[in-house]
Amino acid sequence: MPTADKGGSRVLLRTLRAAMASPGEGQQRLDKVVYLVASNMVAEVCSIYLKRDERTLELCATEGLRKDAVHRVRLRVGQGLVGRIAESAQPLATADAQNTPGFRYLPETGEEIYQSFVGVPIQRLGEVMGVLVVQNRTARHYTDDEIEALEVVAMVIAEMAEAGAFLGSDGMVTGPGRRIGPVLVIGTSASEGIAEGVVHLHEPRLVVFDPIAENTETERRRLGEAVAAMRGDIDRLIEGGGLGAAAPHRDIFEAYRMFAHDKGWMKRLEEAVESGLSAEVAVEKVQSAVRARMERATDPYLRERLHDLDDLANRLLRYLVTDGADAAEGLPENAILVARSIGPAELMDHAGRIRAVVLEEGSLSSHAAIVARALNIPMVVQAERVTRDANAGDPIVVDGDGGRVHLRPEPTVIAAFREKIDLEREARAHYRAEAGQPATTRDGMNVRLRMNAGILADLPSLRQSGADGVGLFRTELQFMIRGRMPGREVQAGLYSRVLDAAGGREVVFRTLDIGSDKVLPFMRREEEPNPALGWRAIRVALDRPRLFRMQIQSLIRGAAGRSLTVMFPMIAEADEFYAARDLFLAEVERLADLGHPRPGTLRLGLMLETPSLVFAPDRLFETADFVSVGGNDLMQFFYAADRENERVRGRYDVLNFSFLDLLARVVARCEAAGTPLSFCGEAAGRPIEALALAAIGFRELSMRPASIGPVRRVLRAAALGETVERMEAARRAGAVSARGALTGWARGIDLPV
Ligand code: PEP
Ligand code: MG
Repeated sequence: MPTADKGGSRVLLRTLRAAMASPGEGQQRLDKVVYLVASNMVAEVCSIYLKRDERTLELCATEGLRKDAVHRVRLRVGQGLVGRIAESAQPLATADAQNTPGFRYLPETGEEIYQSFVGVPIQRLGEVMGVLVVQNRTARHYTDDEIEALEVVAMVIAEMAEAGAFLGSDGMVTGPGRRIGPVLVIGTSASEGIAEGVVHLHEPRLVVFDPIAENTETERRRLGEAVAAMRGDIDRLIEGGGLGAAAPHRDIFEAYRMFAHDKGWMKRLEEAVESGLSAEVAVEKVQSAVRARMERATDPYLRERLHDLDDLANRLLRYLVTDGADAAEGLPENAILVARSIGPAELMDHAGRIRAVVLEEGSLSSHAAIVARALNIPMVVQAERVTRDANAGDPIVVDGDGGRVHLRPEPTVIAAFREKIDLEREARAHYRAEAGQPATTRDGMNVRLRMNAGILADLPSLRQSGADGVGLFRTELQFMIRGRMPGREVQAGLYSRVLDAAGGREVVFRTLDIGSDKVLPFMRREEEPNPALGWRAIRVALDRPRLFRMQIQSLIRGAAGRSLTVMFPMIAEADEFYAARDLFLAEVERLADLGHPRPGTLRLGLMLETPSLVFAPDRLFETADFVSVGGNDLMQFFYAADRENERVRGRYDVLNFSFLDLLARVVARCEAAGTPLSFCGEAAGRPIEALALAAIGFRELSMRPASIGPVRRVLRAAALGETVERMEAARRAGAVSARGALTGWARGIDLPV
């Protein structure tokens, strides 16, 4: 086998190109491909296996194996070396095939005499369509260059298959074909809300009829021009103020710009063009590799980066194929975006023109999910196989509350959801009308309702929802959607704008809560066996005081003499709070010495998120200016149930008396110390939970803006004294949870729960 350097693979591709251009049926073309690859690579065998369906591979052409095995030999994905390659989407080479784990002898082929084996996946945009195999009689070692050359050929075969080059009179179909019939896809809710519409595939399948470059120089130039045009557009967007309503998302675009200039990425694109591929296929090749890594990556930071690169490759392809036409142009007004993954920038491009988003990948903490929540676009993530099951234009219903996607639903399903959508629309209108009313119960107790926020785009909700300020501003979100560490000026500017937008209402800034599920793109991630119990939040802040101090200084500068309220996350013992508070107060003095005004008033509080703190010394409760219960984490630690783990996250009820008793103890401790108390976990935004929290003594709740209306409605309809009686009666009757009693009451008077 000659060394398959870039020049070598170019020669092979050119020969393939000539062969493909000649007339002939699909089968003849496939036969030509295996013949050419075998002779060019000086191998006795070259075979192509293509997928018949999701799980079955079929030998479709061979040079060297028995011809009568073609279209007769079938393998399951995962079975034998070929099946393993299809399953893992990874190349496999061995000089001793028979003794390689997984080897399965196929007697029909007569392959027993071939000792060496190398196979690569035939894949397009991360979807495996088949396997290309080369075998040699003698034991030999295949070099990386040889494997790389085979991958390039496999890429071309995939493109040809997609363009229908191998369709013959026998109707051999290599793609999955058009799906019909209803399909329910179960994913995870990343942004609530329900929407009905038609599928808009984010990556309409590009058909490249000419995957092999006629002239490498031309392709190099085309790639260069497309990259320059793409970068230029991103620059103009940022510099030219073209962001318009998206201005608060400037940071996202900054991160994006950085990736668009990534040297390693560019080098891989150029190398793919050098190997003889057309510019489009070169981009797809690099994109396939990114996606294969994405499948394997468990590190959330790495996955985010790979998503951004995937997103950029999509953009680049659009420039190459359509000269950068607007991605969202011509979208029907009821479009629902379906994609494997989407970057925050691409989502912004579509915002306002789509009703919902469904992603095969993605996570709750992904950048796109953060943006979707801020813009109130329903989103379901981890919707397995959805891009394969959906056809463009299919009817679709997205249930962002339940994390479900109904593809081509039955008319009865559509009708049920339409009813729900109408009811929600009506309810929203009512809630808006009630936004100015206080959340006062029938027995005259006042509960202050505030909103949770994290990026600037959240703040317009302050007015619409009638929230009484921001009870939790998760500062890390702003960090998470950036590609690099924001400097002091940038941070101060941001905090200042948040205070401006709040217009005098209090904003509780929470200092960086990183670690566990929250990953900063620019911070090296420490591998930890149990990240939720690991080095996170205040622990990182106190161990890395430089970063913490910088944030404190930015907050003080951003306040510029205005009132400032700050809390520290995940305090597990009193000393951590004292240390954080001392550090903060020292910075106030230091900055004052430098001429920066002290905050008009300064309130420093703590988040109670670990059960240990419920039993902390009195002095802690007396020292803190306020306490805010982070119910999400407190629940996870109280029940030892990971909040990120779908299997256990919903297993225990917040309304279990055991948890309510723990919370009641917090209320008592704060009352004894005269310390204001609030609750800012997700439970605060669920009407029945909010009512129970008010009943045990919470007078301040902070929640998603969309929850404020429903919570206000329930509180105004309830009397807290009666609620306590109902809960106690249930407890005496032996109930584990207060839920049944409270839900029964609410339903009885027709409340939306
Ligand atoms: C919580 O833990 O309840 C909380 C509000 O913080 P986060 O969800 O950001 O961890
Ligand atoms: Mg928390």
